[in-house]
Amino acid sequence: MYYVPDDTEKCGYYECEECRERFLDVRIASRLVCPYCGEAHDMEIGPDDEMPSVKESAKLLEVIEGEDVEKYDALLSLAITGGDYSWI
Ligand SMILES: [Zn+2]
Repeated sequence: MYYVPDDTEKCGYYECEECRERFLDVRIASRLVCPYCGEAHDMEIGPDDEMPSVKESAKLLEVIEGEDVEKYDALLSLAITGGDYSWI
């Protein structure tokens, strides 16, 4: 398991609207801060910008449960290393 612990029975499947990265997280919320790009921007915010907080750019696509957790985790992990995941 790459994204979530081995005994995870339920997790959220997210896609970031900024960098298009897809990932799993044990936290289930309608939106999350993207772990790939979400925390990289806060040093560049100037005094005129209205949103000093980190943007929650990752959107929940699906809630994954049971053995699908392991399946999605394996597929997404493969995607990172160059595997074919186009059928998801
Ligand atoms: Zn992102």
